[in-house]
Amino acid sequence: MHRCYFVKKSMRRLIILVCLLSSGLLAAQQKLDYQLQVQVDPEKKSFAVQGSLTFETNAASADSVTIVISKGKGTTQLQLRDIPATMYTSTNASGDIAYHWRFKHPLRTGTSLYFSYAYDRGDAPSFQFYLDSSFCMAGGYGSAWYPQVMSRAEDGTDNYTRGTGTFRVTTPRHLMPVMAASTFKTTTAPLTQSFEFHYAQPDIFSLYIGNYTRQEYQGRLPFYTYCLSKTINGSDISRKAASVLDYLTSEFGPLAIPNFSIIEFPEKVSELTGIGGASILGGVVMPTGALREFNYALFGHEIGHQWWGNKILSKGNAGADLLSEGMAQYGSLQVVQHFDSTHAIDYRKTGYPGYLRDQSGLGYLKNAAAGNDEPLVALTGSNGHILGDSKGFLALELLSNITGKQVFHKALRNIGDKYNHDGLTWKNFLQEISAAYGSSLEWFYQQWFERTGAPAWQSSWQQQNNTLQLTLTQKDSVYRLPLEVLITYNNGATTLQHITIQERTTQLQLPVNGPVTAVQIDPYFKVLHWDDSLTPIAIAQSKVIQVLNLRIQQKPDEAMALAKSYLQAGIPGDHYGVEFSLYYQLGRITAAQNKPDEALAYYQHALQSASRAPELLAYTYYRIAQLAAAKNDTALLQWACNNAITADEANQKADGMEAKTMLLKK
Ligand SMILES: [Zn+2]
Repeated sequence: MHRCYFVKKSMRRLIILVCLLSSGLLAAQQKLDYQLQVQVDPEKKSFAVQGSLTFETNAASADSVTIVISKGKGTTQLQLRDIPATMYTSTNASGDIAYHWRFKHPLRTGTSLYFSYAYDRGDAPSFQFYLDSSFCMAGGYGSAWYPQVMSRAEDGTDNYTRGTGTFRVTTPRHLMPVMAASTFKTTTAPLTQSFEFHYAQPDIFSLYIGNYTRQEYQGRLPFYTYCLSKTINGSDISRKAASVLDYLTSEFGPLAIPNFSIIEFPEKVSELTGIGGASILGGVVMPTGALREFNYALFGHEIGHQWWGNKILSKGNAGADLLSEGMAQYGSLQVVQHFDSTHAIDYRKTGYPGYLRDQSGLGYLKNAAAGNDEPLVALTGSNGHILGDSKGFLALELLSNITGKQVFHKALRNIGDKYNHDGLTWKNFLQEISAAYGSSLEWFYQQWFERTGAPAWQSSWQQQNNTLQLTLTQKDSVYRLPLEVLITYNNGATTLQHITIQERTTQLQLPVNGPVTAVQIDPYFKVLHWDDSLTPIAIAQSKVIQVLNLRIQQKPDEAMALAKSYLQAGIPGDHYGVEFSLYYQLGRITAAQNKPDEALAYYQHALQSASRAPELLAYTYYRIAQLAAAKNDTALLQWACNNAITADEANQKADGMEAKTMLLKK
């Protein structure tokens, strides 16, 4: 399962499953350009970088400029040509070295600076950097594997600057370097080969090196899938990803990328680094498991970030998470509605198969029941994902249904044209949507974005001849809502009617033409609400979500203590697998703390619970299988793999366990 993580302004996060990484919006240094060579010899743990970078100063860099480079092995050379200056260093939050250059005389805006550099980055692991004998990941948003020039944003934070350039990467011949969104050419020597990557559009650069094979699909753009595992069907993934990108292009507007890359990285590296993948400009990086089977929600979300977070950057804090996470997830829902429409209701209500289940209506309700709620316009910390990818995308979906999809998407394309240079504030976004709609949507914005909670209603009905008397009472905050009403007649026929409510109590007369046996309000969960079938699950599971959220916030000890206190108190009337899920969480926490025996015991405990959580069962066996594989217990491994597959089959193969367990067995 994958969690997308959007890393803003070089904020450092560790429990990450899938990341969208983006630089902030900047008063950028002008025309930053790199001419860089990197020679990688994994056997010698060497990652040698040299070259030059140039840029023109702006008002913010008249007196000084900061360049960040990861701590290497041995000395780092960094020289400024022709400009008198002094330099001192400091260590930043990621453990990188910041070189602060202070100019002797203030520089005129537009002064050309030329730096040269040479160093060996080595193999010391850091956030987004990993190097072993067969694989290298050098993410540009984590630590600075290449010299990163800092720019000051309007809010005073320092950010990496996007640049253009040419990168010449030399590796042993059996390895292939990959840099997304570039054009490239290759030259080979007897023992090594060089790839030259060229970036005409400013970007932050990430480099991946492995024993890759490349499969190509010519969609509207060239699609490349870079596979490490022989068993991955790269051409199928490229073809489906191309159709997702084409579809989102028709809804969100054009992208300025030369090609699109899907880059595999080893599961082992994902486990070691805590990074489950990343969405980068012109590509996505995913661990092996995520590429076994094409998942429309996952790819829809990651490709959605090509617009929301890459093409269109948000400006200011208000609504920032909705403009990145919320909109990427909105794109993901459009993709599911288009390519896999039968599962769209699952996605809205309880989660899309094989994707993070809590990124759904139920996921939001669990959080709200656990007391974790914030207005969408003001999400903080991990709630950017937790609430932005649950309530957030459902609120945006409802907004699009109110304006009409065509109007909404036309406004989005317009936003893409208008704000792709200078960024988009939340206020800009709301104004563009209202303008396209042609009348005020303030009521919607206020009800859904500016306050917490979700609608809750009670309904009752009576039939009098050809009229159905329907009464709806809103229990908490009052919302103005368009709702569908599904009427079932005694002959089995059904009709769908559309109503609008906006008062605490609404009474309606609906025409009917036969004896009515059932009336369902919002049968397809088009409106996030406290549904009778979800509320008891949300309340019961709120204990689990509290533990999970502490885990996400990197507070394992607190998470563990809370889980244990709930288990000690006992879970009376446990119908929704709460005890099971708490033991599962304890297993995850202790496994991450490298205590495999304790973890194994917790997973076994989970399996003995009276009520199991069916959507977690396959994963519980899978976690046991992982631990069994690590200690070479073949009997336990076999047993756990078989049970993982059986449990997965009983759960519509939502987790693709057949393929996942295959990876463990070899
Ligand atoms: Zn995301």
